[in-house]
Amino acid sequence: MYTNHIIYQNYIRIFMSIGFGLIGASSIARDVMIAAIRSHPNCQVKSVFSTNIERGKQYALENNIPKAQGSLEDLLNDDDIHAVYISTTNELHHQQVLSSARAGKHILCEKPLAMSLDEAQEMISICKDEDVVLATNHQLRVGDGVRKMQDLIAEGAIGKPLAARVFHAVYLPEHLQGWRLSDPKAGAGVVLDIVVHDIDTLRCILKAEPREVVSLSQHAGMAKHGAVEDGNMSVFRFENDLIAQIHTSFLVKYAGDGIEIHGTEGSISINDFLGRESSGPVILKNADGEHHFDATQHSIDEKTINFFVDAIKSGTKPGCTGEDGERSLAAAIACLESAKTGKCIKI
Ligand code: NDP
Repeated sequence: MYTNHIIYQNYIRIFMSIGFGLIGASSIARDVMIAAIRSHPNCQVKSVFSTNIERGKQYALENNIPKAQGSLEDLLNDDDIHAVYISTTNELHHQQVLSSARAGKHILCEKPLAMSLDEAQEMISICKDEDVVLATNHQLRVGDGVRKMQDLIAEGAIGKPLAARVFHAVYLPEHLQGWRLSDPKAGAGVVLDIVVHDIDTLRCILKAEPREVVSLSQHAGMAKHGAVEDGNMSVFRFENDLIAQIHTSFLVKYAGDGIEIHGTEGSISINDFLGRESSGPVILKNADGEHHFDATQHSIDEKTINFFVDAIKSGTKPGCTGEDGERSLAAAIACLESAKTGKCIKI
């Protein structure tokens, strides 16, 4: 059934109208990604798979999606679908990526990429074997502000980077206060939800890998399962000896968010980097004074789709690869291990 999919992918690369299947009738697809997919002139949302077909049909109706399917196999057998966006709970990503790759579909998978490194490595390897694109949806790294910080550091604007701080404490909206707070099997907790994004963003800005972490988790009363953390502070040491502090929470209402990088010759920072349509400017302070760089038009989800489509079409890298998803997951898993054992954990 799937034997001709490499010829089929080449056909898609040439003719280039990309039909997306949504795996998971999720909030993030409804709130953000359906519109991002539709913003691309060559992409359409063709179908949604839900384990509950009635809810899937209702979701399809509300979101103007032509088809709802109650079987993943049916969606993957559908020739109108060339790519899938997987946004189910985290423990399902692994098997759904494997099935999608074996069906010859290109894959944009939500973060965290998987629940373990073995799973993530298998996903990367099968996608390579099947010659399909695997992208991880760490969208923060494609924002203009993050890219500008990366460029400024590469140009030497702050000298040698010494330290970083990430403030990413938010209040988890009520409609998302489900499995994230109550289901460890689904990858609940602030570390797999938020720290994994922040470490990915730092890896991207610094072009360096974290090597070890010490971490403290908090159980401040929102998470309903004792094993699930709803706040965390972690310190990572990167390969160039830079140390980075990350604060995340589900309970903080008014903190705002930001990233600071401090070097021997200057500091750069950005506030409101989480904004989906806009962010604060990047601010550089060094011996020449203070400089502001506009980073306000970053449309990170649309950019993610553009990079993904380019990767399908031209073989370029998606905004965030499967390998990036795996490395950021490795750091998050080490962070959880450190919080559990009280030890500094190598990554
Ligand atoms: P949701 O809880 O909205 O959806 C997850 C699954 O729950 C869906 O696949 C769906 O199952 C089921 N579901 C959704 N709504 C209902 C409902 N009303 N009743 C019963 N079941 C329901 O999760 P999110 O959208 O918040 O997250 C999904 C994934 O996306 C996670 O991996 C998360 O980490 C990631 N995410 C990433 C973000 C980013 O910034 N990159 C932001 C937010 C989430 P079914 O498959 O059967 O339809």
